[in-house]
Amino acid sequence: MQPLYDKFGRAITDLRISITDRCNYKCVYCRTGNEGALYGDLPFADYLRMARVLVGMGITKVRLTGGEPLLRNGVVDFVRELARLRPQGVKPRSGGGSAGTAKAVHDTSATDLSNNDEPLDIALTTNGHLLAELAQPLKDAGLTRVTVSMDAVDPDRFARITRVPNGYDQVLKGIRAARRAGLWPLKVNCVLMRGFNEDQIIPFGMFAREEGVTVRFIEFMPLEEDRVWAPSTVVPLEEIVARMAEYRPLVEIPRGRSETARRYRFEDGIGEIGIIAPVSHPFCGHCSRIRITSDGKIRTCLFSVWDHDLHALMRRGASDDELAEFIRGVVLKKEERHHIGEPDFVPASRTMVHIGG
Ligand code: SAM
Repeated sequence: MQPLYDKFGRAITDLRISITDRCNYKCVYCRTGNEGALYGDLPFADYLRMARVLVGMGITKVRLTGGEPLLRNGVVDFVRELARLRPQGVKPRSGGGSAGTAKAVHDTSATDLSNNDEPLDIALTTNGHLLAELAQPLKDAGLTRVTVSMDAVDPDRFARITRVPNGYDQVLKGIRAARRAGLWPLKVNCVLMRGFNEDQIIPFGMFAREEGVTVRFIEFMPLEEDRVWAPSTVVPLEEIVARMAEYRPLVEIPRGRSETARRYRFEDGIGEIGIIAPVSHPFCGHCSRIRITSDGKIRTCLFSVWDHDLHALMRRGASDDELAEFIRGVVLKKEERHHIGEPDFVPASRTMVHIGG
C-alpha cells in the first residue's frame, strides 16, 4: 500500500476522531449557551474500522476528541482496541510545502509502506472534567498522552469561560491524575480571547513551572457557534511572548517540521510553554492531519466548507479496499491553506464542537 499524500505533497499521518459532538462545557470561544449534540455519534466498531483502514494507509497518530470524548461510555475499551493497531512506516518526502502554504507536487509516486512494530501513538484532547477517574484506566488500555483544555488558572474566571460552576478543581484533579498515571507529555491548552483571559498569560507561566506541564496558548479561530470572532479578539503570538517575557526570559526551542506549536522554555530551565498561532503564523504548509467527525464524515481541513461521507459508504457495504480508495480521493482534495482574516474567507461548514479540534 502506498502512503497517503495530498496533491501538495503533504504526507497525511495524523488522524483526529471525534467520538461525540456532545460536550458538558460551553466555552465562550466554542459554543453558544445551548445544550445538545447536532450530529450524534456512531458505534465504536465503526470508528475502529475507519481507523484500521487509515492506519493501513500510513496514519501513525490517532487523537480522540469531540465534543467531550470522555462523555462516551466505552471509551477505555475503544482505546484498548485502537492500541492493537500497528502503524506502518512512512518516510516523509523532501520537497513538501513551505511553512505558510502548500506547494503543488505533481509526482505522486511514493515509497511503499512497511510493517513496523512501533505502537500506535494514541492521544486524547479533553476538558479534563472526567479525567481524574479515567486517567489510569486509559493509560492501562494503551493511551499514550493527553492534552487538557483549560483557559484560566482562577476558579471564577474558569467558570465564566466554561459557563460551568465548580469545574476548576475537578480539572486540576484530572491533570494531576494524568501525570500520576504517566500520560506523558502532558499538555494544557489555553485558547486566548481578548477581553476574557489575556491576563492569564503570566499566571499560566507560573502554572507550567509549578505543575510540570507544557502550557500551550492557542490563538482564537473563527470556529465558534456564536460568531463573535474578529481580528481584534485574537491575542497574537508576539503579544503572548512579550507578555510572558515580562515575567521571565524565554528561550525558543527548535521544533519538529510538522509541530504546530512554537516552543519556548524559561531561561532557568524550569517550565515550557508553546504557542499555536494558526491566525498570525499559519502552518498549513506542514499540515499532516485529517479528521473524522462523530457522524463519520472526513474533513480535510478545520475550515473545509464540505465534508466527505465515509460512513455512508460503509453503510452501503463497501469493502476495506473501497474505503481506502475513497479516502485516497478525498485526501487529494485537501485544501492548500485556510483563509482566516482574508476578504475571501468563507466560514467552515461546521463549528469546532461538531468537527473535533
Ligand atoms: N472537549 C475537549 C476539550 O475541551 O479539549 C475536546 C474538544 S475541543 C473542541 C478541542 C480543542 O479545540 C480545545 O483545546 C479547545 O480549546 C479548542 N477550541 C475550541 N474552539 C476553538 C476556537 N474557536 N479557536 C481555537 N481553539 C478552539
